[in-house]
Amino acid sequence: MQQLADDVWLLSGFPRFGVNVYVIGDVLVDAGTRLDKGRILKQVRGHGLRAHALTHADPDHYGSSHAVCDALNLPLWCGDADAYAVEHGKLVVSKGGRMLPGPPAHPVARRLREGDEFAAGFVVLDTPGHTPGHVSYWRESDRTLICGDVMWGWNPFLLRGPIREPFTAQLFTPDVTRNRESARRIAALEPALVGFGHGPPLRDPAKLAAAVAKLPA
Ligand SMILES: [Zn+2]
Repeated sequence: MQQLADDVWLLSGFPRFGVNVYVIGDVLVDAGTRLDKGRILKQVRGHGLRAHALTHADPDHYGSSHAVCDALNLPLWCGDADAYAVEHGKLVVSKGGRMLPGPPAHPVARRLREGDEFAAGFVVLDTPGHTPGHVSYWRESDRTLICGDVMWGWNPFLLRGPIREPFTAQLFTPDVTRNRESARRIAALEPALVGFGHGPPLRDPAKLAAAVAKLPA
């Protein structure tokens, strides 16, 4: 694991920064695809985790959640509006809430809402759009933000490219307008450190702001 800030770590993976998994304090944030179980369990061994939380219910973020929660006996937390999908092993693929089959289901022990205290001084921000219950984790004291897929640090399929919004096809981002509102919200925080769901960590708030400013209204 690579330490990014006080009580914030990024797990190593291959390809590097392809699918990011974080630890905030004693909470594992996201669990990659179904293929990421092994690397997660190996790296968090001895860390004394208390819970596993999601940024959102997509198969590249809760793919190994069921397996990791079972192996480590952790309660699963996620955004209120994504809890149904996680508990039924689905993903939301349209604004109307249409769903497709997703990763293995797991019961949600805590439904996160705007302003909830999270861990290590972080609070929950509601940042919907990419999924209905997408949340981000924000610590004002050092302006650290874990933003999931509100914005991508690069193109996750090419593993390069500039900071960008996630693909706007409904399958990827059911509500593009709401996600852009969420993107404007996180950019306005001027985070000193951003941990994306995909791509390398960013320590340049102006770069995030410039990428978000280019988004259509
Ligand atoms: Zn993703």
